[in-house]
Amino acid sequence: MSKYVERVIEDVKTKYANEPEFCQTVEEVLSSLGPVVDAHPEYEKVALLERMVIPERVIEFRVPWEDDNGNIHVNTGYRVQFNGAIGPYKGGLRFAPSVNLSIMKFLGFEQTFKDSLTTLPIGGAKGGSDFDPNGKSDREVMRFCQSFMTELYRHIGPDVDVPAGDLGVGGREIGYLFGQYRKLRGAYENGVLTGKARSFGGSLIRPEATGFGAVYYLESVMKHEHDTLEGKTVAVAGFGNVAWGVVQKLSELGAKPVTLSGPDGYIYDPDGITTKEKFDFMLEMRASGRNKVQDYADKFGCKFVAGDKPWGEKVDIIMPCATQNDVDLTQAKRIVANNIKYYIEVANMPTTNEALRFLMDQKNMVVAPSKAVNAGGVLVSALEMSQNSERISWTAKEVDDKLHQIMTEIHDGSAECAEKYGLGYNLVAGANMVGFQKVADAMMAQGIAW
Ligand code: GLU
Repeated sequence: MSKYVERVIEDVKTKYANEPEFCQTVEEVLSSLGPVVDAHPEYEKVALLERMVIPERVIEFRVPWEDDNGNIHVNTGYRVQFNGAIGPYKGGLRFAPSVNLSIMKFLGFEQTFKDSLTTLPIGGAKGGSDFDPNGKSDREVMRFCQSFMTELYRHIGPDVDVPAGDLGVGGREIGYLFGQYRKLRGAYENGVLTGKARSFGGSLIRPEATGFGAVYYLESVMKHEHDTLEGKTVAVAGFGNVAWGVVQKLSELGAKPVTLSGPDGYIYDPDGITTKEKFDFMLEMRASGRNKVQDYADKFGCKFVAGDKPWGEKVDIIMPCATQNDVDLTQAKRIVANNIKYYIEVANMPTTNEALRFLMDQKNMVVAPSKAVNAGGVLVSALEMSQNSERISWTAKEVDDKLHQIMTEIHDGSAECAEKYGLGYNLVAGANMVGFQKVADAMMAQGIAW
């Protein structure tokens, strides 16, 4: 590894020892940048990496709200504007009890390179709150969103910072957030948020985008390996919006997704999650807020395994679509024991660094990194921004074609870059290097004040 890269990783680990998720992602990204950094000795002279690992700005704020019984609660809100070198800050808002500064910084850092990979002009950011939307009434969620936006609105704007959804933030929350922004701002700036409903500037295909994009990326991987999706079985983890898009597109292209997972365990459906009734039931499970995939097994009469993950099932393709660090070394060993060839990360950083290294060391395995595979969501968000600026909406086909085309470019560009630096078909390093290079070029051109 390049000495410069090594030093910056060590400095980050020392300085931010209390932010483990952030340190993990900095190490994951920087450790694959050696060849690019070595080819550009000027980066070290201007402390480029040292600057890149510190967010441009971290906004932390209190979010007081009243529940239906008149009790007052206070949560912490965040917006980490990580890097705006190539465009307005862009990235989702996550509402989950696990949210803290380390997780926000990890996601904002990842987002910077993901957004760069989309080829579109968007910088990297992330935000959210430790608020738990599960079990809250609609009115409680509305009041929380209004309070959250009452602080956030002064820091965002269509050319400044454009939030969207992430875990716990879907169309309903985006609607409430936009309503409050519009009230406070006194202007119709609908490009300030993406993932909106169609009636006020949302894009067709945005709900499906992350899942569809992931499968388009997988298609390119299969093509590279002279293989096809036809008849392949797929273990999917998660049951939310991303998994929903993934199983639909997999089915359309002839593959058979057989598992879903939730906090309670996983289900195995040998007939495949391939019908409209099953896709719609996934939406119902999400809307119910019960957070239980056992409901699927009860409804369709298939196997439910409590307290486990689906990684011991023998399938052709693995797609973790749930949350970070879902696959640790023990789980990775189960996957390898089943001789599975395709490991396609979909959720943000679903694999621990240790497990990722282990999987990448397997000769016959293809590992695809989440920051490329799940870029379809933010990519279509950027297309939503374009439509809002133009004040027109594109057809579903126009959006989907563009998504398909760019996902293919992301795969091919990463593969080519890794090849160029003599790393073979290394999609993880390729994605990191391509994402990094554009941000680095922009920062180099814009002077040292950034
Ligand atoms: N939360 C999604 C992501 O992780 C989408 C962000 C966006 O659309 O801005 O990329």
